[in-house]
Amino acid sequence: MCSTLTFILEYSCGHRYPKDSQKVDCRSKECRLSIHHETIAHNCLQRCKQGLVMSIA
Ligand SMILES: [Zn+2]
Ligand SMILES: [Zn+2]
Repeated sequence: MCSTLTFILEYSCGHRYPKDSQKVDCRSKECRLSIHHETIAHNCLQRCKQGLVMSIA
């Protein structure tokens, strides 16, 4: 399942801010979020993982 990595910038004062985010593709054709997701007609709802993009903060 694909996810989104969020990089956190931490300052010496202790404050943290999200700096950047990067999509991590699981490269599965059965994952709806992947760029490799099946492009031909298929029963997506039953066959594929319909996950949400997770944000790790
Ligand atoms: Zn995926
Ligand atoms: Zn699908």
